Amino acid sequence: MPVSSTQRLFFTLTLQPTLARNIVHWRNQTFDVQRPARPTPATQLHLTLAFLGDTRPAQRDSLCRIAERLQNQPFSLTLDNLGHWPKAGIIWLGPRDSPRPLLALASALRAAAVRCGLPQPATPFSPHITLFRRAHHPLILPSQTPGWSVSFSHFSLYCSELTPRGSRYTELQRWSLGAPHAV
Ligand code: ATP
Ligand code: MG
Repeated sequence: MPVSSTQRLFFTLTLQPTLARNIVHWRNQTFDVQRPARPTPATQLHLTLAFLGDTRPAQRDSLCRIAERLQNQPFSLTLDNLGHWPKAGIIWLGPRDSPRPLLALASALRAAAVRCGLPQPATPFSPHITLFRRAHHPLILPSQTPGWSVSFSHFSLYCSELTPRGSRYTELQRWSLGAPHAV
């Protein structure tokens, strides 16, 4: 099958536009990170649940059928942690404590990926929102974040296109969290 028939996909949580703008505003005031570090635009801030990589249409359809049947619960978390992975060049914002439903959702989606023939890393899921990429140099992080509390009631399947100007994301589908026929 030609490579062009695959899509680079990932399951993700998306942020409300107002929250994303608040995070970017705080980031721009708080961090003094120079080039070549690349700040993530507000519209691209997200929390990846499972990276699928190059996915064939049949695999995508199977994943969507599995995602449709999941009955994972909605949850809230607090964005109160910052980290820097210098080797990956990532500065991130995330929760100090991961709620169980978040871990369960990521685990279910990783399992779905494996069932569809998309291998998953052996490393544990580490929830984070990338604030900067290409930040390989040492730096001192701010001591705290505003500690935003965020509720998530759906998750999405995104397609990522790699371009010379960075990745371009498109939401393909989204699913509500919670039992579909709950009253
Ligand atoms: P760029 O690669 O241009 O820096 P990006 O990393 O956001 O941008 P993608 O590489 O398409 O774009 O990744 C989409 C999402 O999946 C991102 O949240 C990224 O962190 C995550 N991701 C990418 N590769 C992996 C991987 N091998 N393991 C886990 N997560 C990954
Ligand atoms: Mg990448």
